[in-house]
Amino acid sequence: MFDKVLIANRGEIALRIQRACKELGVATVAVHSTADADAMHVRLADESVCIGAAPAKDSYLNIPQIVAACEITGADAVHPGYGFLAENARFAEILEEHDITFIGPSAEHVRLMGNKIEAKDTARKLGIPVVPGSDGPVTDLKQAKRLAREIGYPVLVKAAAGGGGRGMKVAPTETELEVAISTARSESKAAFGDDTLYLEKYLMKPRHIEVQVLADGLGNAIHLGERDCSLQRRHQKLWEEAPSPALNQSERETIGATVAKAMQDLRYRGVGTVEFLYEGGEFFFIEMNTRLQVEHTVTEMITGLDLVIEQIRIAAGAPLSLRQEDIRFNGHAIECRINAENARTFRPSPGTITHFHTPGGLGVRVDSGAYAGYTIPPYYDSLIAKLIVHARTRNECLMRLKRALGEFVVDGVETTIPLFISLIGEPDIVDGNYDIHWLEKHLAEG
Ligand code: ADP
Repeated sequence: MFDKVLIANRGEIALRIQRACKELGVATVAVHSTADADAMHVRLADESVCIGAAPAKDSYLNIPQIVAACEITGADAVHPGYGFLAENARFAEILEEHDITFIGPSAEHVRLMGNKIEAKDTARKLGIPVVPGSDGPVTDLKQAKRLAREIGYPVLVKAAAGGGGRGMKVAPTETELEVAISTARSESKAAFGDDTLYLEKYLMKPRHIEVQVLADGLGNAIHLGERDCSLQRRHQKLWEEAPSPALNQSERETIGATVAKAMQDLRYRGVGTVEFLYEGGEFFFIEMNTRLQVEHTVTEMITGLDLVIEQIRIAAGAPLSLRQEDIRFNGHAIECRINAENARTFRPSPGTITHFHTPGGLGVRVDSGAYAGYTIPPYYDSLIAKLIVHARTRNECLMRLKRALGEFVVDGVETTIPLFISLIGEPDIVDGNYDIHWLEKHLAEG
């Protein structure tokens, strides 16, 4: 096991990782920007190092500074969390060159899945069904038109390097294709420094269903069931649940087994998520995330497993301690992302939190780095807390969620709490009857 883990992240996920390290008896190092000097992840770590100015490129994305912080503190491993450097293959390689373990998959797998065209190609070869679309990149308009006709409109223009819903544009008909391509190209170039695009069939009523995997790189891989992340705005998840209200037991087992087998064949190491769109009883692979995800918590609640502890053990070289038949799914869990944003327009609302009271009681978990008096810096994402509720059934879970949201007090900034309170009364939400477009339609109608 490691002696000391440096956590190259901030906010709730930095705290989440610290907790796992503490339970394993591993010392922790926090890194922070000048804007985060008072942050909870800094206060609760065993040691901390300031790695640069507020903008992420100067601090949380500053690889030389992070490596220097490891050397100063003697950290022997780095946990990247999610976002920032979590899917940066070069970062993983640089750490290995310095004899520091990257808590994650091999750099080769990070790179492979980071390119969505290659990821789809790999998935197809591993026997995973993929969304119909272009097999390779789109090179010119003439070729794009030909491909789009073959795929059938509407088509979605996507960035090979895409993430966070950026570089994605719908073309309902051929008339809109040229503009969709040029907008996606410039967005992708600006966000990722890469303007490679590809085309996909745009699905009209899919759900977003993803499978959590755990693998040791030695050829053992298991799945931990699925999460339904269909409640989204601008292709960004807001509410996640496990299990999915849309799947039956046989669908769940089949897709889980397909993914686990593929990860065995790939000799994947660590935690990972294989993301699908699900429509008309069929699954279509869209991408794989080679890291811990924001919504890993709902899987933890229904399996009773600590995914970060498993992830750290695997990175330290331990073989998988669990077999598929050891995994028991218990009850239902829902996560709501409490963002400092206006609940209707989703405009960020940075500022100082004047009062902060978190809900508690049976089956209620809050992962957050916020506190009364905390000033939310404008430089990073707007997530201030994750409320996760667990109960025996989905109905009980919704009742508990309503109660917990009612107890949550965040004053001084706007949050998404009022949106979640209003959603719980919606018949479609109660019935679990929603797809990836439901929330935006609902907001537009309201
Ligand atoms: P990113 O990596 O930017 O998050 P993804 O490929 O994971 O992009 O897709 C994010 C979301 O965009 C999905 O959850 C879904 O809502 C939507 N989406 C992606 N591909 C399609 C598609 N082919 N048809 C319809 N919606 C899609």
